[in-house]
Amino acid sequence: MSLFSLSGFGVGYRDSDRLHPAVEAIDLDVPAGRHLAVLGESGSGKSTLALALAGLLPANAETNGMLSRPGFAAPPRLGRDIGLVFQDPGGSLDPLMRVGEQIAEARVVNRGGTWRAARGLAESWLARVSIPDPPASARKYPHQFSGGQKQRIALAAALVSEPALLIADEPTSALDTMSQYAIMGLLKEIAAERGLTLVFVTHDIALASGIADDIAVLYRGRLVESGPAARIFSTPSHPYTAALLATRLDLAKPRPRRFAEIDPRDFSLHVPGGAHE
Ligand code: ADP
Ligand code: MG
Repeated sequence: MSLFSLSGFGVGYRDSDRLHPAVEAIDLDVPAGRHLAVLGESGSGKSTLALALAGLLPANAETNGMLSRPGFAAPPRLGRDIGLVFQDPGGSLDPLMRVGEQIAEARVVNRGGTWRAARGLAESWLARVSIPDPPASARKYPHQFSGGQKQRIALAAALVSEPALLIADEPTSALDTMSQYAIMGLLKEIAAERGLTLVFVTHDIALASGIADDIAVLYRGRLVESGPAARIFSTPSHPYTAALLATRLDLAKPRPRRFAEIDPRDFSLHVPGGAHE
């Protein structure tokens, strides 16, 4: 069963009397339970596609073709059925609210239940994303955490409502390499535990290789390649994909070290001062 099915789907942005196409003629399925990496250079339309799936396109966007949601019984609700994580955790975290309260609030708003139960869940999610001392951390504000920790907290806030799908748009692009891989490893573990469907947007083919079952490659608004990651890495059919792979020779066979072999806790807690990952 596919959560989304796109056929000849396109999005353009209106600017006075002109329509600037951002993605065009997209044929793509997002099967439940699989991890899709949407790959492409800056401006290729990745975020536009992610926003279209989330139902979050801005007012000046116009769509054409078909986008259906066969895997959702009712129209999916953001926050409850679809979780979102963006590049800048500052965009999803309220600077004036203690992080434990933010995570608990997401739970109460999306799933109901008591605040007491939601606060308990908030602490267990902080632990799950490897934030040290969850009871104390829950009472802190976002600025008291490093960038990588803030993104882990944003992840906890997105997952506490148990969405079936997580859409992550370059969630680690603002972080250093070690934090990126640690968070990707964590996301991969949690997705496996929970049977989460994942749509992961990135311009980094190495990062995509660690988490993706399937890959969709966008180039100038067109889907130039899509299919199982293993097939695309071994025999890319489009020159752009081949060029991307050529910049990462370590992705050619034999297989690179996979995220599953990296324990995110290796990186998160042992830095003197604790403010960095
Ligand atoms: P990516 O995420 O791959 O960098 P985007 O989806 O953000 O690509 O952008 C694709 C194209 O759409 C770009 O040309 C960008 O300038 C344009 N675009 C994105 N968002 C808007 C918007 N809100 N209004 C007008 N044009 C936009
Ligand atoms: Mg983008």
